[in-house]
Amino acid sequence: MDKIKMTTPLVEMDGDEMTRILWQMIKDELITPYVDLKTEYYDLGLKHRDETADQVTVDSAEATKKYGVAVKCATITPNAQRVEDYNLKEMWKSPNGTIRAILDGTVFRTPIFVNGISPNVKTWTKPITIARHAYGDVYKNTEIRVPSAGKAELVFTDENGQEVRSLIHEFKGPGVIQGMHNTDASITSFAKACFEYALSVKQELWFATKDTISKTYDHRYKDIFQELYDAEYKEKFEKSGITYFYTLIDDVVARVVRMDGGIVWACKNYDGDVMSDMVSSACGSLAMMTSVLVSPDGVFEYEAAHGTVTRHYYKHLKGEETSTNSVATIYAWTGALRKRGELDGNQELQDFADKMEAAVVKTIESGKMTKDLALMTTLENVTALNSEDFLKAIKATFDAM
Ligand code: NAP
Ligand code: MG
Repeated sequence: MDKIKMTTPLVEMDGDEMTRILWQMIKDELITPYVDLKTEYYDLGLKHRDETADQVTVDSAEATKKYGVAVKCATITPNAQRVEDYNLKEMWKSPNGTIRAILDGTVFRTPIFVNGISPNVKTWTKPITIARHAYGDVYKNTEIRVPSAGKAELVFTDENGQEVRSLIHEFKGPGVIQGMHNTDASITSFAKACFEYALSVKQELWFATKDTISKTYDHRYKDIFQELYDAEYKEKFEKSGITYFYTLIDDVVARVVRMDGGIVWACKNYDGDVMSDMVSSACGSLAMMTSVLVSPDGVFEYEAAHGTVTRHYYKHLKGEETSTNSVATIYAWTGALRKRGELDGNQELQDFADKMEAAVVKTIESGKMTKDLALMTTLENVTALNSEDFLKAIKATFDAM
């Protein structure tokens, strides 16, 4: 059988520890035997980031802008311990943060559904995607611990020195205050990414804030979404047979736990942080959660939602057997290949991605899975496989299909 040809390369961002081991195994077992793989390779492993003073991360993001689709392995975000262990020149920033800042993106996270690994919310038959705005609000706030009685005010000074003042509170005693912000530009690109993503997966888009209480701040989000929808997306949504729905965050929370799923749920930064943990843990495992960063101009970067699985890597280094779940990393590859196929009009590549994902699901449903899933499945006659044998089992399923 001839290998599937690619016309445009994927941007490949290699990473660290156990996921770096899985990365190579996935390519060897599941991708290169079938696809004449074309990638532009960037080594985001911590050692190479340090050698290039993190320039490689910037270059990989710029390449993603150029080609449109990237696939990223999990990477270490250095802390003080890592600086010591790796003898780093600097405590380099989170690669995801750097890439996000360059691509100006929104993060979409979706759990992978498999029979026998049931969500705790019984009505969920289809996955819910969380679209998280990744800029501002409480994540870029300023806080003051108020020591005693006094007056707190919000002050904005424009470029001409003109002031706008608003009373926050007349303190009778100690307390706390917090200042936070967002920008129209960032909210607009968040909205755009959500509309584009909903169209690309042909699912309803739900968006919620607390605009009844936050009449200026949250209301601005609501208005920006609505204005952009009316101006640029209404017709496209109608043509695709999907809807855009705005309501209050409490209303969405109440509806979500009694619906069947299959929606994109757009969340402000904090809501997305909290709700994506709720959705992923309600669905079983971090290793079954996909993640894609989508920029407002339709650039896509696929990855797994979990980290580099350090504990398993140290076992691997000691020569011990590991049973690390590669599903989310495989889906990062298939997601990127499918998107590349769509952009290049390469049907074969899209079909390959669909079939490989089907093989992953079929393998697990046949009772062959890694330890994390074996511990929670409702299936009987389950075999817990090691990292490599799980990939070999998927390959065998794929070949049989
Ligand atoms: P982690 O790598 O996600 O692992 C935490 C634990 O979750 C593991 O010890 C393991 O539990 C379980 N787990 C996660 N993925 C698994 C998989 N594929 N298969 C089986 N079990 C899995 O998080 P972490 O240990 O907090 O972080 C490790 C490193 O990853 C850090 O340096 C951090 O900076 C980095 N990180 C990177 C990203 C990214 O690049 N997107 C995201 C998060 C963290 P058991 O040990 O109980 O088996
Ligand atoms: Mg969180």
